Amino acid sequence: MSELLDCEHCTACDLALTRQRVVISRGAAMAPLMLIGEAPGAQEDAMGQPFVGRSGQLLDRLLLDAGLNPEQDLYICNAVKCRPPQNRRPKRGELTACRPWLDRQIDLVDPRVIVLLGATAVESLLGIKGGMTQLRGQWLSWEGRVVMPIFHPSYLLRNPSRAADAPTALTLADLRVVQQRLCER
Ligand code: SF4
Repeated sequence: MSELLDCEHCTACDLALTRQRVVISRGAAMAPLMLIGEAPGAQEDAMGQPFVGRSGQLLDRLLLDAGLNPEQDLYICNAVKCRPPQNRRPKRGELTACRPWLDRQIDLVDPRVIVLLGATAVESLLGIKGGMTQLRGQWLSWEGRVVMPIFHPSYLLRNPSRAADAPTALTLADLRVVQQRLCER
């Protein structure tokens, strides 16, 4: 998206000092579904694309299992576009500094449905601080769009149980609900 080219040169917060690449998005520019995560990790920082490491690969598998094509059906980005050192959680000031870029992405993609991956994305977009166990799978509303928080895939990697009530199965169920919502007119 040419409207986001300036983002590649952004120095609005200190994460610009340690990043290799600004990580803006992958997927389809005009998708009806937008996924928002937390921040790039080491592989994302090196490659310049979000969710290309282990958690991204797991996310792609779950999306495909839910009937969603990661390249065609959705646009995926992060709340902050530059990697925090040692993969620490982005600071509030960094989330605030990067928020205009996120708002611009939402305006450009104009998704019908937004999925928030983990507590940082929820806090960044909705200003809600809450436990993901309570928030996940709920339909919320933001600026006239429907929004669903789900677990971040890195959390699923740390909790790899395949039990029916474990985070991975719950996340797949949530993504299937999202896929069904997208099929509704
Ligand atoms: S994290 Fe966002 S605000 Fe900070 S330098 Fe990168 S693009 Fe700019």
